[in-house]
Amino acid sequence: MATVARRKFVCGNWKMHKTAGEAIGLATEIVAGLADVRGKVQVAVAPPFTALHAVAQALTRGGPVELAAQDVHWEKQGAFTGAVSAGMLADACCTHCIVGHSERRQLFGETDETVRKKVGALLQANIRPIVCVGETLAEREANRTLEVVDRQVRAGLAGLPAEVLAAITVAYEPVWAIGTGKTATAAQAQEVHAAVRKILRELGGVIADQIRIQYGGSVKPDNAAELMSQPDVDGALVGGASLKASDFLAIVKGALR
Ligand code: PEP
Repeated sequence: MATVARRKFVCGNWKMHKTAGEAIGLATEIVAGLADVRGKVQVAVAPPFTALHAVAQALTRGGPVELAAQDVHWEKQGAFTGAVSAGMLADACCTHCIVGHSERRQLFGETDETVRKKVGALLQANIRPIVCVGETLAEREANRTLEVVDRQVRAGLAGLPAEVLAAITVAYEPVWAIGTGKTATAAQAQEVHAAVRKILRELGGVIADQIRIQYGGSVKPDNAAELMSQPDVDGALVGGASLKASDFLAIVKGALR
């Protein structure tokens, strides 16, 4: 079967870091450092909600860096204190939104069902979901990695027509690798990414070849290129290393190798 070229996609997840002023500084440094990448890699950053507007101004529409949010509520509006809708994210110039991050699953009660509802709401608002999946250490040690990831992918994308799947990015993030400094080996990542691609093929046929599958979990400048050289690793979702422009830029450049 012919291999399909997918443009690599690297997204920085800033989590609960950076005031608006700090976020503008980081975004500006990243944009400046991308001049020689010239669109060969798709790049996005996900600041906290409070910095979205300021970062949108710093990035400028059509520039080399897109804006992502870290979470969304599935309802359009209403009495949901603390929540933000997909329409509000679109209004704040977000083109992407992370959903199902393991921190949301573990600390804030995110379930496969809420992931599915969020994906639907985002697509309706023309925002591209980055759907995070991944096993815990206990699940990996019990040989349940592929079973867990299979369940999360199918549940998160349930009911979506094949033609909208191209708008989705899946991020495989083994929970044991997030923020721990332990990275999956390139072979471990490729094994799971290939399994995810197989599921996507069942759900979307040939569209699966267009869907980017990012790896996330302690991606750093020194391991990014090897991870992203795997045939089914189409980019990275980067936490800690996305908070320093030079590290994040080195990871983006690792996608070019
Ligand atoms: C993440 O939280 O999505 C992540 C991958 O974090 P880190 O890169 O810090 O492991």
